[in-house]
Amino acid sequence: MKVFKFGGAGVHNVERIQNLAAQLQGNKEEDLIIIISAMGKTTNALEKVAEAFYAGKKEDALQLFDVVKKQHINTAKYLLVTRFNACLSQLMDFFTEVEWLLHDNPIREFDYYYDQIVCCGELLSTCIISQYLNESGIQNNWIDVRDIIRTDDNFRDANIDWDKTKMAVDQLLSASTKQITVTQGFIGATDANESTTLGREGSDYTAAVFANILNAESVTIWKDVEAVMNADPKSFPDALPIRELSFDELIEMAYYGAQVIHPKTIKPLQNKGIPLLVKCFLNPAAEGTIIHKKHSKNLPPIIVIKEQQALLHLESRDYSFVGEKPMAALYEIFSHLKIKPNLIQTGAINVQICLDDRIDKIEKLALAANDIFDVQVEKGLSLLSIRHYNETILTELLKNKEIVLLQKTKDTMQALYR
Ligand code: ASP
Ligand code: MG
Repeated sequence: MKVFKFGGAGVHNVERIQNLAAQLQGNKEEDLIIIISAMGKTTNALEKVAEAFYAGKKEDALQLFDVVKKQHINTAKYLLVTRFNACLSQLMDFFTEVEWLLHDNPIREFDYYYDQIVCCGELLSTCIISQYLNESGIQNNWIDVRDIIRTDDNFRDANIDWDKTKMAVDQLLSASTKQITVTQGFIGATDANESTTLGREGSDYTAAVFANILNAESVTIWKDVEAVMNADPKSFPDALPIRELSFDELIEMAYYGAQVIHPKTIKPLQNKGIPLLVKCFLNPAAEGTIIHKKHSKNLPPIIVIKEQQALLHLESRDYSFVGEKPMAALYEIFSHLKIKPNLIQTGAINVQICLDDRIDKIEKLALAANDIFDVQVEKGLSLLSIRHYNETILTELLKNKEIVLLQKTKDTMQALYR
């Protein structure tokens, strides 16, 4: 069996959904699980609903939710004929669930409400698409993935309970041969049947979880780009497609901030040696990129730029060396604040830490480190990382840049600049 994943861009309007059905006409006879995200920017819209609700602006929340409702009803209306009423009644059930909650007053933490509200994006999109595929002669089963993906209650970044999820897959999916299952990415549920989400862009990860448990032959992530590129084409018009990558290379790219695939996706596939294909739904015949266990050779320089970086200069207060004790204390703070530094450099009596400029985190970090270090913060920086760099590209990309921190290993160069 195979796993396909379509993200928000792949299903963001009527034409894209029709396109998806046309594309799947060729897969009718296959044993296939299709993981789908919320339509277009629905997740962002639902985040706004959750924020308004939590801020006590009930009317605003309901109004914002109404926009989401209308969009989905309109899409269903355009796409469906015979199955419209059945679909509408499913949609109504999901709407009611959210509206019910919106009429309450928040008494739990924000992240809990976020997940209960935001999860409906995927439920709505998959209902419409599943019905439309059935109407177009592509027989499929719709499954509420919350009956399968079991997680803990770490809302907004829930962790999968693999044993329970495996059991649920065996019970609900094992019988399926030569048939198509349509289900949601990004969402799951706790043992208490509370909805959870796996982190933004988490649908890729859902696809990998199913593939791992079912020993799938491959996972295909259908995107609006032709392939994985060696740089973001918006900033680098000469960016090149990469046809073949190893899991090792992909995980490094994700680590340095390339937004190709959700980083959690890689491990479940690597562990079972399941190849990951990135292909373009606008041109399914195009080659795309294959990511697998094989070592990637002759890679071009891979360029990643992260904007909005902050640099913390920490200097030991009493001129004592920065040894293992202060560093251990620092890492303790990172772990407590869930901070992932992008670059660290230590000197005799100082440490420099580059991290994403998240005001809440930086203030807390500065405060917590204040016991041991004098802390200074510089903001508005950019971090350039180049894998497989060469002198030509370094000269070109570092030209006219005021560099504040530079690190090089054999494979990777990182430069933080103003
Ligand atoms: N709909 C979710 C998001 O926008 C999950 C995903 O697209 O993978 O983050
Ligand atoms: Mg998405």
